[in-house]
Amino acid sequence: MSEHIALTSAERASAPVVAETVIIGAGPCGLFQIFELGLLGISAHIIDSLAQPGGQCTELYPDKPIYDIPALPVCGAQELIDRLLEQAKPFHATFHLGQEVTELTPLPDGKFEIATVLGTRLIAGAVVIAAGVGSFQPRRLALPGIEAFEGKSVHYRVRSASDYHGRDLLICGGGDSALDWTVALAEKARSLTLVHRRSEFRAAPATVARMRELVAAGKMQHIEGQVVALHGETGRLDHAVVQSNNGETTFNVPAEQCLVFYGLHPKLGPVAEWGLALERKALRVDTEKFQTSVPGIFAIGDINTYPGKKKLILSGFHEAALTAFAIQHHLFPEKRQFLQYTTTSPIMQKRLGLAPADAPVVTE
Ligand SMILES: Cc1cc2nc3c(=O)[nH]c(=O)nc-3n(C[C@H](O)[C@H](O)[C@H](O)COP(=O)(O)OP(=O)(O)OC[C@H]3O[C@@H](n4cnc5c(N)ncnc54)[C@H](O)[C@@H]3O)c2cc1C
Repeated sequence: MSEHIALTSAERASAPVVAETVIIGAGPCGLFQIFELGLLGISAHIIDSLAQPGGQCTELYPDKPIYDIPALPVCGAQELIDRLLEQAKPFHATFHLGQEVTELTPLPDGKFEIATVLGTRLIAGAVVIAAGVGSFQPRRLALPGIEAFEGKSVHYRVRSASDYHGRDLLICGGGDSALDWTVALAEKARSLTLVHRRSEFRAAPATVARMRELVAAGKMQHIEGQVVALHGETGRLDHAVVQSNNGETTFNVPAEQCLVFYGLHPKLGPVAEWGLALERKALRVDTEKFQTSVPGIFAIGDINTYPGKKKLILSGFHEAALTAFAIQHHLFPEKRQFLQYTTTSPIMQKRLGLAPADAPVVTE
């Protein structure tokens, strides 16, 4: 995966970042938008609520093959994302990951202010919403009073593995994340219990086999069942009650910390609250610019709708190309627009980092 420029918390707390454009959503369409803007000499900041770029491809079906990407007879979904990141690399977009955009506000001077849950603020001349089916949220542990524990002793992602060293740890789930962290932490935690409601796991067979070895070696325990209660005070977990699948046995499991990996589900969420015209939970756009009901705010990929819309990656790629031209016109209305080919355009090749160092400076 490509390297990204990530902002520190100190940068987040300071004044708003001034950006030419902001892309909300780092799925395949948002990533291709970086490239199309970059070709036209326009820089981008890109924000995603997930900790890594890739949208549905990375989150929902990374290992599945895709057969309808032009000129790639077959391409793994994660491979497609890696290729898009590689292609966008020359344009040095700034990635703000792991933070949902909550606010998008038009400013009196025609620019936009974008704010995220982590307090990052950006001012941009144009915004592209590439939010797909919405921002992915973790499925929560559905227990009464869970809110008191969330963020203190119940977590849906690992921020720092060392937080769990030497602790009584409960891990819930049966997918790759649950099994990977179980195997990684079993010998670091004071005790580790994995709870999954089925006997089959949806994780790599080698990781499941390693988990079973750790159980056999007495390094952890695995219970087939579900968590029915958490006990502790002021958000500090003490133990969990786990019920076996047949309901006949209950276990008191020591647990100071609990990691829940029940997968993610998309939520349209804040996008619906920004005052943009919606049609059946999608943003209505025109098919010339893919502009929403607010000039300067564009929408591409699965989040938009127009007559004949097909939610396919290649539709989003086409939309990203036309949106880039529309944004160029929005930001620089005086500029004459003309189509250039990457094959023959010296300025585009320079932007792509391909032109030889001694090539004459080319301007549009
Ligand atoms: C199992 C499966 C197989 C598929 N196979 C194919 C196929 O073969 N060919 C094909 O063309 N398509 C396929 N698709 C559809 C394809 O994956 C989507 O069309 C594509 O992912 C849409 O890309 P996108 O960039 O618009 O949105 P997404 O991939 O959904 O990415 C949107 C991103 O925006 C982020 N986001 C949303 N709201 C916010 C917010 N407020 N703040 C911050 N971030 C936000 C999300 O976290 C997400 O990462 C498949 C889909 C699935 C589920």
